[in-house]
Amino acid sequence: MTTPVERLFTLFDETATILQEELQCTYLEAVAETGENVFHGDVLQEEVSELNAKRLKKEYKEIQLDRFTNEEIRKAFQLAVLKGMKEHTQPHHQMTPDAVGLFMSYIVSKFTGKYLALTILDPAVGTANLLTTVLNHLPGKQVKSYGADVDDLLIRLAYVNANLQKQPIQLFNQDSLQPLFVELADVVICDLPVGYYPNDANASRFVLKAENGHSYAHHLFIEQSLYYTKEGGYLFFLIPNSLFSSDQSAQLHTFLKEQAVIQGLLQLPMSMFKNEQAAKSIFILQKKGANVKAPKKALLAELPRFSNKQAMQVMMRKIDEWFATEKHE
Ligand code: SAM
Repeated sequence: MTTPVERLFTLFDETATILQEELQCTYLEAVAETGENVFHGDVLQEEVSELNAKRLKKEYKEIQLDRFTNEEIRKAFQLAVLKGMKEHTQPHHQMTPDAVGLFMSYIVSKFTGKYLALTILDPAVGTANLLTTVLNHLPGKQVKSYGADVDDLLIRLAYVNANLQKQPIQLFNQDSLQPLFVELADVVICDLPVGYYPNDANASRFVLKAENGHSYAHHLFIEQSLYYTKEGGYLFFLIPNSLFSSDQSAQLHTFLKEQAVIQGLLQLPMSMFKNEQAAKSIFILQKKGANVKAPKKALLAELPRFSNKQAMQVMMRKIDEWFATEKHE
């Protein structure tokens, strides 16, 4: 028996393949096109031949999107995007892996347990896979969300992804290190783009600019994110483990000490990454403010393999205990 995710993926895949041929575009572009068609229940591209348009319309009609949950839609769309990304490997444009997104959602929901309404910003939203995972795991809350990304194809995928899941995210196609037209956020989530930021003139506005040469984009993203966070708001960054051992880490440390308190650092299991250099952690900050106190002990842990259920349960208990002690929950 096929699962709902498989059924929906097959639809995205088959219809994207037809559109790729018809529109002479990449598979990834065709995924965005077919996603938009699925949302509208129609074929929006005039170039498509009559025969294929008929075939596509029939498939779109049969699928009945409202019978799928948001998470089923997100996962099926994610599989199609992953297939498309394999064609062009762009290491800095990779989608946030599902397991990481799910764990991040769990942590975000723990930290925002007491919020009834909140605003979330992802300044490197990519395909919105991470952002919609987090949004899908905040049931019962009134959430306003913003996402920005410099890559126009990724932001199109984000827009289609958000529409299919009926998540009203406000998206911006821009360099997120330029001024953002968003409300201050209660929560920032960001799988940081790691590397050098080429625009030295713009980098010069930031405290964390490099003394010489290009600045680190990931440092500037942390600074920019803090700037767009409310006092007392939380920030959840997916960071490279090397963040605190680079040549500019002293600068970063001083800046963070002034602006934020460190709530936690959770190292993701090494088995998730190709090698040690690629390994990442979830870094949790709270922006300083009137009632903000640093935790007695930050939440520090090396996470076990997510497939190791027993070890994961022990870890969840440890996290719950931390919340009970530090946040009285
Ligand atoms: N969380 C995303 C997802 O689920 O698809 C993936 C984030 S990916 C690791 C980092 C993203 O940062 C990429 O989509 C890339 O286009 C974006 N990016 C890099 N530099 C940027 C900039 N200066 N302004 C805005 N976005 C940027």
